[in-house]
Amino acid sequence: MKNILLVGGAGYIGSHTVKQLSKSGYNCIIIDNLVYGHKEAIQASYFELVDLMDKNLLNEVFNKYHIDSVVHFAAFAYVGESVIEPKKYYENNVLGTLNLLEAMLNNNIKKIVFSSTCATYGEPKYIPIDESHPQDPINPYGRSKLMIEKILYDYHKAYNLKYISLRYFNAAGCSKDGDIGESHSPETHLIPLVLQAIINQDKPIKVFGADYNTPDGTCIRDYIHVEDLAIAHQLAIEKLDNYSGCINLGTGIGTSVKEIISAAEAITGKTCPVEYVAKRKGDPAQLFATNDKAKNILGWVPKYNDIREIISTAWTWELNRKY
Ligand code: UDP
Repeated sequence: MKNILLVGGAGYIGSHTVKQLSKSGYNCIIIDNLVYGHKEAIQASYFELVDLMDKNLLNEVFNKYHIDSVVHFAAFAYVGESVIEPKKYYENNVLGTLNLLEAMLNNNIKKIVFSSTCATYGEPKYIPIDESHPQDPINPYGRSKLMIEKILYDYHKAYNLKYISLRYFNAAGCSKDGDIGESHSPETHLIPLVLQAIINQDKPIKVFGADYNTPDGTCIRDYIHVEDLAIAHQLAIEKLDNYSGCINLGTGIGTSVKEIISAAEAITGKTCPVEYVAKRKGDPAQLFATNDKAKNILGWVPKYNDIREIISTAWTWELNRKY
């Protein structure tokens, strides 16, 4: 049974990946500083409270467990905050990753799957976005992730590190059985906020812009179910011996903000209070992926292609949150 180290394994995508890997017979070891992760989301028998700034503790973890591969989710991910406090983002995300890589190389561990993002592309030059689309991020969060992609590439060339950077589009939904889910504080993501507006009718969802150049005037995004992301991580781990590079993870389907709201209303049978407000800075009109590379290289096909099914799982969670 292979030991996989999940850095940030108590977070949203990390915890769903732990669940998937455990189900498939992997031995999961989680490290997390629990700044944004949740104790209740820990789905593995082995957990160590470690911050990536603590090189000694990191080394101890690698000494204690015989790690085969690392999956690295740990990052600060609030775009707006990254503009105001870039230092926090570059230190935590970039320096934290450098420390992790140092500990890995010191212990001769050379396989890593990294959580990257479509935010590394910046303003789209064309749609759908493939992996050769130019990368020109428009905020420090996206730049911190792009820097890590480049570091992984250089370490691959120089030290034979095997890596796959997975560029997520909009992660959404929750575990189908409702035992783990999405819980950010503060919450900034559209789907949980729409469902929360439906529950607390006095807090309308603020729609950021209704005059975009899209069919209904609202932004279009590619919402990918978190369990599909989790499966992709497993496939990526299993591919590391034969492939290193960057892969988009999206459904290839674009859904507008208004379509999300209508689907949520249909699922819940309730109306969603809506307030139209100004555009949010740095929000492109449309972002959706081609996922041909994920299909070809990983053999990955998303199971959730219907936004209503994705929102249904989020609704199950929202009605019975554990954390
Ligand atoms: N959005 C919105 N109101 C909100 C949060 C998000 O209108 O309160 C829109 C946002 O402009 C974007 C889409 O919903 O077009 C998804 O935003 P989210 O923050 O969930 O993810 P992002 O695309 O920023 O990663």
